Amino acid sequence: MPPKVKKMDSAPAFVRALLAHFDATRRDLPWRSTTDPYRIWISEVMLQQTRVETVIPYYDRWMQQFPSVATLADASEQVVLRAWEGLGYYSRARNLHAAAKVVRERHSGLVPDSVEGLRALPGIGAYTAGAVSSIAYGVAEPAIDGNARRVFSRILDMADPSLTQIHTAVRDIIPADRPGDFNQAVMELGATICTPRPCCSKCPVQWHCRAFALGTVHLRPGVSARKASPVFNIAVVVLIDADGRALLTQRPPRGLLAGFWTFPAAEPQAQQSSYAKAARRMAAALVSAPLSRARRLDPVSHAFSHRTEVYHPFVYHTRRAAASYDTAFRWVAIDSMHELPVPVAQRRIARAAGLVVHELHL
Ligand code: SF4
Repeated sequence: MPPKVKKMDSAPAFVRALLAHFDATRRDLPWRSTTDPYRIWISEVMLQQTRVETVIPYYDRWMQQFPSVATLADASEQVVLRAWEGLGYYSRARNLHAAAKVVRERHSGLVPDSVEGLRALPGIGAYTAGAVSSIAYGVAEPAIDGNARRVFSRILDMADPSLTQIHTAVRDIIPADRPGDFNQAVMELGATICTPRPCCSKCPVQWHCRAFALGTVHLRPGVSARKASPVFNIAVVVLIDADGRALLTQRPPRGLLAGFWTFPAAEPQAQQSSYAKAARRMAAALVSAPLSRARRLDPVSHAFSHRTEVYHPFVYHTRRAAASYDTAFRWVAIDSMHELPVPVAQRRIARAAGLVVHELHL
């Protein structure tokens, strides 16, 4: 039986102190000067797992390129992925694109104003629905991200409160006249003061914090056993032709990095000694002409949410490309790769490869 959430005795004073602090310290962010639900929705999706400073230039560029639901819905997936490139977690961009089409087709281009309507869109969960409905439409709905969860775990002095328990507690206290500001104030408190190493002496709601009163702040939230993400080592083939172009391949339409262009890669290898062999085998299968000796580049790693991939790139030169490839392959000048959606780690490989191309026997 999960522990019961005790009601806050001083909820109105807590809300007043929190909002007063937010009013005095709120950052002037581009998505805070609007109540346009489309803009708020985009900012909330970009901000997931990503720092505010990183998001700002992406948000500004996105709004120039896709100023409305209709412009986003009309764009091709490749263009949308290209605009998202560098923010990671690309399923967010694909879901935004799919959801924009649904909004255009089923909601006459208007972002739904109810939590249920929002949650029916691809990629929108409880957090995004709460944030968009409360900030854009003034619906008294909680928006609980990782920061808010940490704050309420301490305010309520609960080691591991469930989302349902936090929602129940917040619905009791969220002010009907400023639900969006309340949600943003809690998240901002978690991002700036009630961080994993909290600065309780500067906290505007210290007097309302049960964990502070009981001396249990360091125990809240409890440490959940996080699984270390597995690491996969992958040999990557950078094949350069006589014109200095590299061979790229497009990822399948579903799965990790779907639709992106990458250098051909072998299956994950367990032994370091086998990377070179795997790369050579793959390069030989891609061209019928002789290959130069491999030039090995420094490994490049990239952490996804559930796995880390370490790429071991090998550069080869060939004077003649195979006569035909299927449409999943394309020869691309290294300095034109920016025209295609290419993951950030692959761009780092391309930069390093560009530096060594002139050292190969071209
Ligand atoms: Fe967080 Fe400390 Fe404030 Fe409690 S008093 S909400 S632990 S910063």
